[in-house]
Amino acid sequence: MQMSEDLIRSVVQQVLNQMGTGAAPTNGSSNGKASGGDYGVFPTVEAAVDAAESAFQTFRNSSLADRKKAVSCIRNICVEQADELGRLELEETKIGRLDHKIAKLRGTIPLIPGVEYLRTDLNSGDDGLTLTDYTPFGVIGAITPVTHSLPTLAANAINMLSSGNTMVVNAHPSGSNIAAHGVRLFNKAIAEATGLENLITIIDPPTLKTAAGLFENPKIRLLVVTGGPAVARAALASKRRAIVAGPGNPPVVVDATACLDNAAKSIVIGGAFDNNLLCIGEKQVFAVAEIFDKLLDTMAKHGGFRLSAPQIESLTRAAFETGSDGKPHVNKDLVGKDPAFLAEFAGIRVPEGTQLLYGETGFDHPFVQEEQMMPFVPFVKVPNVDRAIALAKESEHDFGHTAVLHSRDVSVMSKMGKLMDCTIFVINGPSIAGLGAGGEGVPSFSIAGPTGEGVTTPLTFCRQRRTAVTGGLRFA
Ligand code: NAD
Repeated sequence: MQMSEDLIRSVVQQVLNQMGTGAAPTNGSSNGKASGGDYGVFPTVEAAVDAAESAFQTFRNSSLADRKKAVSCIRNICVEQADELGRLELEETKIGRLDHKIAKLRGTIPLIPGVEYLRTDLNSGDDGLTLTDYTPFGVIGAITPVTHSLPTLAANAINMLSSGNTMVVNAHPSGSNIAAHGVRLFNKAIAEATGLENLITIIDPPTLKTAAGLFENPKIRLLVVTGGPAVARAALASKRRAIVAGPGNPPVVVDATACLDNAAKSIVIGGAFDNNLLCIGEKQVFAVAEIFDKLLDTMAKHGGFRLSAPQIESLTRAAFETGSDGKPHVNKDLVGKDPAFLAEFAGIRVPEGTQLLYGETGFDHPFVQEEQMMPFVPFVKVPNVDRAIALAKESEHDFGHTAVLHSRDVSVMSKMGKLMDCTIFVINGPSIAGLGAGGEGVPSFSIAGPTGEGVTTPLTFCRQRRTAVTGGLRFA
C-alpha cells in the first residue's frame, strides 16, 4: 500500500500527541483527544472538516446558553492570557508591537459581538405572525492572515459560534503555531464548560494546498477569507459562497479647515498601531499646501519623527524590491517592524518612544502606491482639497476599503465619502475609530469589502429563515 504524505503526517501527529509533546495542554479533559484530534488541531483538511461537521450536528441541537458559554471561554482566554498569547504571536510572526498585540486580545476581543447580537424579526398583522430567524450555515471555512493571526481567529470564532456555526481554520503559515495553540486552549475550555468538542478545528500545518482543499471541500457551506490580493482573488473565483475581507491602502485627506493637532495625533495613533499592520491603518496622507508644513511640524508633537528626502530614499531602497514585472514589491523583512528598525535603513537613530516615521514624498512614490504595512507614512502636498480627494481615490486602487478625512467642512465630508465609496470612512479621528476604538460601533478583524458584508458580526454568518404562522394569530 502506498501511504500519502497527509496520512504519514497524520500518524506522526497522533504519535506525538500520545507522547504529550507539542504545545497541547496535557493535564485537562480528554474530550478533545477522544475524538481523534488534538483539541481541534488536525493534520488534514478532511479530518478537520469532518470533525467540525460532526461537531455542528451536536451544536445545532444545543442551547443558546451553551453558545454563550463557548463564546465566554474564548473571550476569557484572550483577556486572561493576553500577555502570554501576545508575546507568543509576536515571537512567531516577528511583526508588529507587543503592547498592541496584547491590546487586540485584552481590549478588542471582549467587544466582538456575540450571541447577544442575534435577533428575530417579526411581522404581525391580520393574517398572523411571520418570524425571521437568523440561523447557522453549518461548517464555515476561515482563512486568516499573519498580521493578526490569533485575534482574527478568535474574533471570527466568537461571531461564527454565536450564530451556531462550527469552523475550520487555515491560518497563515507564519502565524500557524499561535493559531493552533489558541484553538487548543479554546476547545479545551469549551469542552470543560459545555461538553462540546471541536467547535473550532484547524489544519496544522497549513499550506496553500490545504487552503485550496478547504475551498473545494463540499462540506464547507461558507468561506470567510481575510487576507491580501491573491487570496481575495482565489476566494472570489471559488465555486463556494465566500465572504471576502481583502486588502486596502487607506488614504488620509487633510484640508485647511481641519484641527491640525487632532489630525496629527490621529494619524500617529492609527498609522503606528501595531506598526501599521492594520488593513485600515493610515498609509498615505494628502494635505493641502496651506497647512502642509504646519501639519508635518505638529506630527512631531505626537511621537512622529520626520525623515528628510535623502533619508526617505535610503529607506525606500531597503523597503521595496523590484519584481520580475519591473514594479516595486514590498520587502517583507521590513513589514511591521519598529520605527527604530526602519530608521536604521534611513541611516539614522530616532529617539526612544518614536511611534511613527513620516516625511514628504511625491504621489508616485512606492510608499504611497503600495500597501506597505510599515510605520512610515508619506505626506503628499496638494494645491487644494479636490485634488487631495482625487489622489486619495487613485491611491486606494478601488479596494473600497477604508479612507480618512480631517476637515470641518461638511461639503468636503459628503464629497469625499461619496467618491471614495469605502466600507469604512472615518472623519476627524484615527482609522481605528472606524472599528469602535474612539468611535461608535462594534469591532471586527474581518472587514468584508469586495463581497459587501462590511464590518462582520454574528449576523454576517447567518442564513435567514422565515416561519409564517397563518390564521390570524395576533395578540394586539
Ligand atoms: P496574505 O494574503 O499573504 O495571507 C492571508 C491568508 O491567505 C493566509 O492564511 C495565507 O496562507 C492565505 N493565502 C495567501 N495566498 C493564497 C492563495 N493564493 N490561495 C489560498 N490561500 C492563500 O495576507 P497577510 O500578509 O497574511 O495579511 C495582510 C493582508 O491581509 C493585507 O493585504 C491586509 O490588508 C489584508 N487584511 C485584510 C483585512 C480585512 O478585514 N479586510 C484584515 C486583515 C488583513
